[in-house]
Order: sequence, then structure tokens, then C-alpha cells
Amino acid sequence: MRNRIVQIIFIILIGLVSVKHSFAIEPAIVLSPKKVGPGDIMTVTVKNASGPVEGSFNGKHLYFNPAKNGYKAVVGIDLKTDPGTYPLNLTMDGRTLARNVVIARKKYPVQKLTLPEDMVVLSPENEARADREQRKMAAIWPLDSPRIWQGSFMDPLPGKTPGTPFGVRRIINNIPKNPHTGVDITAEEGEPVKAPNDGVAILVEEQFYSGNSVVLDHGQGIYTMFFHLSMVNVKYGQAVRKGDVIAFVGSTGRSTGAHLHWGVRVQEAKVDPLALIKLRLE
Ligand SMILES: [Zn+2]
Repeated sequence: MRNRIVQIIFIILIGLVSVKHSFAIEPAIVLSPKKVGPGDIMTVTVKNASGPVEGSFNGKHLYFNPAKNGYKAVVGIDLKTDPGTYPLNLTMDGRTLARNVVIARKKYPVQKLTLPEDMVVLSPENEARADREQRKMAAIWPLDSPRIWQGSFMDPLPGKTPGTPFGVRRIINNIPKNPHTGVDITAEEGEPVKAPNDGVAILVEEQFYSGNSVVLDHGQGIYTMFFHLSMVNVKYGQAVRKGDVIAFVGSTGRSTGAHLHWGVRVQEAKVDPLALIKLRLE
């Protein structure tokens, strides 16, 4: 008899708990695209979150912005990331949600080039200059910057086809070099290059390897960079709007023909620019 009463109370309790749960809308995490690899960009959307969302991916801070049905963050996966499982941790409404994200193996093509030795071996002066510029470039990325970008990113050279893709592993004169961390877009000399989104020019300079170069800061750790330009249309520190002509295609620096080298960083991760313009952002 006593057992029977305990059983009934237990059933009522279970019933109460499930009624309560069916009324509360649970937050849902949606990752897009579903499968990602090194060099990709993904969005993390938290649907049905009633308050702001905070979070990190593999220990790195994520910037969540209000979006349709909840909050969305843009996450870069660096080209050099080892395939594996990485933790996504989110907090909202005083609760935490954890998820493991699989970074799948991704094969990038190998490009073998034979170049005259004098194009590969630098003079001591040029070597020193290239080193200096590399150090400067490594130090320009602000750790934390407010959001400037609005909506989806646009193609800086609409309608043009990419040549050498992002991530290609280069072997020059039988020596493996750094992988290609941008996309090369073939275009006519003088073709206008447009700002992919609102931003601020944080570097406008003529450099040994990249020639006339522009780097835009779009805020929240998103940067776009443009190399080998013939002419530059912006000044250091200048604010630009999406679609503004910031420069013109050229072949300055170490370049064998007119093209735009376009690079993207998302929270320090070197990622494929073509993945950035595929994102649907509010
Ligand atoms: Zn390039």
C-alpha cells in the first residue's frame, strides 16, 4: 500500500515537471554550414534565447549580435587548425550550454612553381625590409574593436572569377612555402575594388611583397585586406561604407600580373574570403 502511494506521488511529480518543460521554449544552437574545416567560417545562431548570449569557441571570445529569432556570432576557423573536436561554450539567461564542434579534415591543392632564383632569394636590404613589414603587419590587429559591419559582406570585385584559390600549398623551387592565405582574383589593371562592408582603413602602405596594400577593420575582429593595388583611394584612419571604391587593381609588389589578392581574418583566424561573402548576416 505504502509502495503504491509513493509510486503515485512519483508519477504526479514527473507529470508536473514535463508540463513545466513543455511551456518553456528551449534555446537551440544552430551551426552553419553543418560541416566545417580549417579555413572555413561558420555562424553560430542561438534561437529562442530571451537575453544576450555570451560565448567562446576553443577558448576564444565570440561576438553575438541580435538576429532573427535570437543571437548570431561569426566564427573563423584558422587554416592551420588541426582536425578534431573543439568546445563551444555558451551562457544565456544564467544557464550554460556546451557543444562539441567537429573540424573536419580538408584537402587543399598543391601548387608547384619554378621561379628564377633572384625572385626567390632576396637582397639583404629587401630581406630586412620584408621582415620589418611582416612585424608591422603582425601588430596591427586590435584585440577588441566595436562592431562597424552591417549585414552581409559583398564581393570587392563583383563578377570576377577567382584564380589561385585560398589555402593552396605552394612549393617554390622544391621548397615548401607558407600556404596561400587569400584568394587571387584576376582582373584588368585599374578595375575598381570595393569595400566589402563598412569599416575603417587601419593600414594603407606600399610594401615589398604585397605592393600597395589596404587593410580594413570591420569591427568585432573581422578584417579584410587588399594587395598588389595600382592605386589607393583611401587614407589611413578613413571610414568607408560598403561598396565605396577603396582602390584599383594592379600588379605592385611581388606579382606576375594584374590581380587582386584578397585576404580575410576573423578573430585572428586566416579564413577563405569566399566563405565570408557566402554568409547571410543581418
Ligand atoms: Zn595571392
